[in-house]
Amino acid sequence: MGASSLPSHCDVLVVGAGPAGSACAQLLARGGVHTVLVDAQAFPRDKVCGDGLIPDAHAALQRLGVYDEVMAHAQRVRHVGCVAPRGGRVDVPGRLAVLPRRQLDDIVCRAAVRAGAQLHAPVRFEAPIVDNGRVAGARLKAGDAVHELRAQQVVLATGALPQALIAAGVCQRRTPSGVALRGYVHNPAMSSRITELEVVWHKRLRKGYGWIFPCRDGVFNIGVGLARSHSKQVDGRRTMQEVNLREMFATFCEVYEPARELMRAGTRQGELKGAPLRCSLDGAQLTRPGLMVTGEAAGSTYAFTGEGIGKAMETGMLAARTLIDAGPQGFDAAHAPYAAAIAALKPRFDLYERANRVNDHPWLADLLIWRANRSQRILKRMEGVLEETGNPGNLVSLRGITRLFLPIR
Ligand SMILES: Cc1cc2nc3c(=O)[nH]c(=O)nc-3n(C[C@H](O)[C@H](O)[C@H](O)COP(=O)(O)OP(=O)(O)OC[C@H]3O[C@@H](n4cnc5c(N)ncnc54)[C@H](O)[C@@H]3O)c2cc1C
Repeated sequence: MGASSLPSHCDVLVVGAGPAGSACAQLLARGGVHTVLVDAQAFPRDKVCGDGLIPDAHAALQRLGVYDEVMAHAQRVRHVGCVAPRGGRVDVPGRLAVLPRRQLDDIVCRAAVRAGAQLHAPVRFEAPIVDNGRVAGARLKAGDAVHELRAQQVVLATGALPQALIAAGVCQRRTPSGVALRGYVHNPAMSSRITELEVVWHKRLRKGYGWIFPCRDGVFNIGVGLARSHSKQVDGRRTMQEVNLREMFATFCEVYEPARELMRAGTRQGELKGAPLRCSLDGAQLTRPGLMVTGEAAGSTYAFTGEGIGKAMETGMLAARTLIDAGPQGFDAAHAPYAAAIAALKPRFDLYERANRVNDHPWLADLLIWRANRSQRILKRMEGVLEETGNPGNLVSLRGITRLFLPIR
């Protein structure tokens, strides 16, 4: 639906139709809540991402009833191939796939509309309407027209850019947790060579990593990510480290032969594009009266791997579930259970933050991968991390590292 038919009232206004917002809107609409979903961009739209779907995303897509549709378009993958600085490699099995976000987000968004959510795009959230300190709706911009939409609850699912959080008065950190850059390249000759999600650590990519993820039809998503990109303090303010992502991308192609070959003989599709990440459930106030924050806006992306599609959908569904449960007493009654549910996820996110050590010290990847190739137990633990039955932090905790030096059993 276009912007002209925007209503003046609804129960819940969900801002942002990425995985978090669309998942939230679908569940709300299914629960009989009058839901309006707006996005600043017309759909289908592109989103800068690696497009990798790890097991948590598979589970969320199943819960949203779109798994079969997604997998009918996606490239199925069986392993994450972890490549260490000295060239060692281990393939960790898991439920994996790759689907460009233009298609994935469109499928998840259309499912929300099928469930009864009203989508209006392109429509931008400008600011909340505040009555006596409580958010009571939003001022939306559609082209040049400004529209006031009153809602009992506003859910912000606006991703990693902080502008909407700032406007809503819930931004606690403007700078991102990390930044990443990706491009698409068509090179069918490499289709038999790169069949897994390849993640590459190297000392010249220190504090980050490179990846190549195979899409369908000989197309690959290739990129580099930099964790803790804004950790440098200058005059008491966080600024970006002196790392140029385009140079990092060129370095990735220098140090990793398959990346070099992919780019040399392939045809680039579109420009290399960069985007920020918000990780570790950090950087935003989760609620204020009349408003909730979910998905990457709430920091739902994992540090270390930069994976966030699955957790965006999960947190979006958590927001919806708590709102539906609270409905009869007023939607603000959802805030405490929502905050508790997010807090319950926090220890896991903290472990991914700790696992960032591998990005800081790539030699750890050498050690881990060397050991995993000799020990079924360590490979199983890596598989457990991917499937979320085990903790990444344990593998790279001091104790975990010490154990890696012990004789193989
Ligand atoms: C380069 C890169 C590679 C990545 N690779 C992977 C990967 O391989 N696998 C993975 O799982 N994760 C990956 N991630 C992380 C993943 O992209 C995010 O975790 C995920 O997109 C978060 O989903 P979301 O719905 O919270 O936000 P988004 O997907 O960002 O959606 C937010 C939506 O809100 C809209 N919006 C924003 N502001 C407004 C406003 N003011 N008004 C209206 N609408 C607004 C935007 O247009 C957008 O559609 C990667 C990230 C980057 C940057």
